[in-house]
Amino acid sequence: MGSHILYIEDNPDNMMLVRRALESRGYQLSGAATGLDGVSAAEQNEIDLILLDINLPDIDGYEVAKRIRSSSKHNLAYVPIIAITANALKGDAEKALSSGCDVYMSKPINIRELWARVEAYVPAPSIAK
Ligand code: MN
Repeated sequence: MGSHILYIEDNPDNMMLVRRALESRGYQLSGAATGLDGVSAAEQNEIDLILLDINLPDIDGYEVAKRIRSSSKHNLAYVPIIAITANALKGDAEKALSSGCDVYMSKPINIRELWARVEAYVPAPSIAK
């Protein structure tokens, strides 16, 4: 099973935090800083899971999720997408789910929650049996 995660996020601090957290568990992380770059990266690489920021500088995370789900690349209809929302109480979470995301988590990012949510879909290589 692969362990290649794509993180679509424009904030460099969050990118560094998540990169360190996931690489420490043996995952391979690719980053994209805009929505359009994220859709391209998802289509051009074999991705096992996507972490998706909602507030992006071009198209927002909802639109990213819709484009990924409607991609002609077959497995993107099923790849797990975890939305990372800044305003979970303002309807972001429901919009994320209705846009095609599987689950959401709220900012600020909690590393233990991140590990647990990712491992629910993709076992961590460094602790896999
Ligand atoms: Mn953002």
